[in-house]
Amino acid sequence: MASKPQVQCPLCHLELDDSEHLQDHLVESHSSSELAEAIVSRWEATEYGYDS
Ligand SMILES: [Zn+2]
Repeated sequence: MASKPQVQCPLCHLELDDSEHLQDHLVESHSSSELAEAIVSRWEATEYGYDS
């Protein structure tokens, strides 16, 4: 009876049931430029060791 972990949208912090719903949500609710910005900032955090 393990419950699925909740997934939170990294852009608007909406909580979703699982990662498939997150993918649908990202496609339907966010523009490609919003998604690109989020991915770039995540990459920068990894690459340069930024903490946010
Ligand atoms: Zn969202």
